[in-house]
Amino acid sequence: MRRHPWLFSGAIDKVSGSPAPGETVRVCGASGALLGLAGYSPSSQIRARMWSFDGRDTIDAAFFERRLRAAIGRRQAMLNDPLRTGCRVVYGESDELPGLIVDRYGDFLVCQFLFAGVDAWKAEIVKLLHTLLPCRGIYDRSEAAVRQREGLPPEQGLLWGEMPPELVEINENGRLYGVSIAHGHKTGFYLDQYDNRALVRTLAAGRSVLNCFAYTGGFGIAALQGGASHVLNIDSSAPSLDLAAGNFRRNGCEDERYSFLCANAFEILRELKQAGRQFDIVVLDPPKFAETKAQFQRAARAYKDIALQGAALLSPGGLLVNFSCSGAIDLPLFQKITADAVLDAGRTGQILHYMHQASDHPVGLPFPESLYLKGLVCRID
Ligand code: SAH
Repeated sequence: MRRHPWLFSGAIDKVSGSPAPGETVRVCGASGALLGLAGYSPSSQIRARMWSFDGRDTIDAAFFERRLRAAIGRRQAMLNDPLRTGCRVVYGESDELPGLIVDRYGDFLVCQFLFAGVDAWKAEIVKLLHTLLPCRGIYDRSEAAVRQREGLPPEQGLLWGEMPPELVEINENGRLYGVSIAHGHKTGFYLDQYDNRALVRTLAAGRSVLNCFAYTGGFGIAALQGGASHVLNIDSSAPSLDLAAGNFRRNGCEDERYSFLCANAFEILRELKQAGRQFDIVVLDPPKFAETKAQFQRAARAYKDIALQGAALLSPGGLLVNFSCSGAIDLPLFQKITADAVLDAGRTGQILHYMHQASDHPVGLPFPESLYLKGLVCRID
């Protein structure tokens, strides 16, 4: 065993008794040797996830306290940083807490319980969280589709303390963002792009920016902070662009330096090209086009189309900032898709920066599946 935390149903020879969803089970190798302890999930293809590779451990509240303390301890510097009041505190398998996500937004914590094993410990985990990380309230956003595969119903609502306001303000390197904990994507904000927003800020001085898939304005505001001349934000969701507009105002950005277009990127990028528009930086941060390996061809075509249209809009020497958050598309493939797209746009270029998810979303060495966000900054000639 290489300490990978997942046990697939096909790899299990036999199950003694009929453990309930979420129950702790002992995991034994073919020789009968005890390999460790896992949480059991009878309806999932991932039939069990390892809590511990030490069979002498006891899985109880004290165990979760140790694991939560370790996750918080690894991030202590970030959690103390007044310029980083949005931060992921627990990143599931990478923090040896399979299926548990905890994000902090200011004085509030938002959790996702994405595996039957961790769902069974919800009450204890919530109690530990507000003891270990003083906060005003803890909110549940466990409505993600993955819970279905675990045989768990969607759940959303207050778990402890005070109900968060409609928008909780976070400070990211001096930029302020209002985060909708109850209605935003994921737990409310794309914390994983923290480093990449900082990079875009350093690239933006004097440049015009197209921020495509803008959501609540993350990259756009970072670009203006870095001295961009203008940012056009595109998103197909009007409510997201309303939040983005609020965020631009919150940061005191001058009205004439930003604008919005509520449109489908697959159509509007072509229309902008036909209208003769050009930009010095094009940021493409689309949603996950591939949920599973099976969808990956369709997803690859979508990534290519978007990158082709984005590259075609760049001024000579402009920067294409291209992302994929689909775990099923790995970096070599994403790089190839980007290269093909730039070629088909009749352009050429170089990769200046490789990007990935921020360090509060670490990749557990035994769990390479946790690397999902990839990005390239390409200079396009
Ligand atoms: N860059 C953002 C996160 C982007 S999330 C940040 O750092 O915060 C992806 C966004 O793409 C969502 O806001 C979603 O509304 C938008 N979107 C999805 N499909 C789209 C499409 N076809 N055209 C335009 N926007 C789309």
